[in-house]
Amino acid sequence: MADNKLYDILGVSRSASDTEIKKQYRKLAKEFHPDKNPEAGDKFKEISYAYEILSDQKKRQLYDRVGLKGLQEGGGHEGFGGDDLFSHLFGGGLFGGFSGYGGGGGMRRRQRGEDTVHPLKVTLEDMYNGKTSKLQLSKNVICEKCAGKGSKTGQAPEKCPACNGCGMKVTYRSLGPGMAQQVQSACTDCHGSGELIRDKDKCTVCKGKKVCNETKILEVHVDKGMKNNQKILFRGEGDQQPDVEAGDVVIILQQKPHERFERNGDDLHMKHTISLTDALCGFSFVVHQLDQRDLLIKHPPGQVIKPGDVKIVSGEGMPIYKNPFERGNMFITFQIKFPENHFAPEATLLKLESMLPPRPVFSLPDSAQVEEVDLVDYDANERSSHSHVRNRGEAYASDDEEQPGPGMQCMHQ
Ligand SMILES: [Zn+2]
Ligand SMILES: [Zn+2]
Repeated sequence: MADNKLYDILGVSRSASDTEIKKQYRKLAKEFHPDKNPEAGDKFKEISYAYEILSDQKKRQLYDRVGLKGLQEGGGHEGFGGDDLFSHLFGGGLFGGFSGYGGGGGMRRRQRGEDTVHPLKVTLEDMYNGKTSKLQLSKNVICEKCAGKGSKTGQAPEKCPACNGCGMKVTYRSLGPGMAQQVQSACTDCHGSGELIRDKDKCTVCKGKKVCNETKILEVHVDKGMKNNQKILFRGEGDQQPDVEAGDVVIILQQKPHERFERNGDDLHMKHTISLTDALCGFSFVVHQLDQRDLLIKHPPGQVIKPGDVKIVSGEGMPIYKNPFERGNMFITFQIKFPENHFAPEATLLKLESMLPPRPVFSLPDSAQVEEVDLVDYDANERSSHSHVRNRGEAYASDDEEQPGPGMQCMHQ
């Protein structure tokens, strides 16, 4: 039976449109937002996750095909959702039938901070050979001086009098007679923390902010065979806040375009132009591989290459991620450069013709209807005006006056 869990979470059918999914997500996200509904446990995370998958056409298709379990297994290194959420989706909460959340069983997790996402530009060479990049990023760490208390004395801060410690202010906005909308916003006095530290008790290092900004260098290992958009996780390296589990730093690889190769999965694709003589009589050429090797490619005389022919060099594609001794293939699509006009005198052309396979037999139709016409160059950008004249002439000459020639219809453009 098809896995329907993510649709169930959002309360939509499998055939729901993108708009329906978005609408339903907004509604549920409002209802179960942890700020409004702290009792809902990880429901909000589940809703966000379901929306993340179902709002992305590619991910939704994959989910429809392989289900949640398939996403976890197959999509593992694409980083769908992360392991934590998966273990949650399978091990507890809604899906396992066992609920450790919200029941006061002491299993409630610490609130988790947001992940920090950084793109990292890499070359195709980096993904072929592997590379270690140093990434400098600034992050908040718990102040050492006050151990995250924000105060000199370490005394628990006072409740913010403006919001009575809840960090939020509720105001009402009138929408009309007898109708009011409740608007929640962060308290401006305490910036949403619900507590205030008196100025003279503020920690001198963090100025009462509890955290300090620090520059940190992360070593990012780009492994052989990693792909564009692949995520590399640094667990718990996100911003620190007191009483909150630090989020992750997520590095997303972004491949710069390569001048020679395009990548498709583990395969490399390139185009190569050869001359007509090469195509008919054999050739050699060298491909500079991403690890600096030069690959000599020889094609024997007698085997004709036609425009658009594709040949494979097996085992010269990208290394396979986590199995770098195996590699994909290199696909070469051939383009053929034909000689220019009048590349040889006519006498030589006759000689050439005698060497090429014989022409197909041409026979002139035996009728009075034969009319010799001209073949003129066609420029797609500038439709040849000759064709209009020609077509008009035909239209007048034709018996069938109902149908103007195609050239007539173009004249208004
Ligand atoms: Zn306040
Ligand atoms: Zn401090």
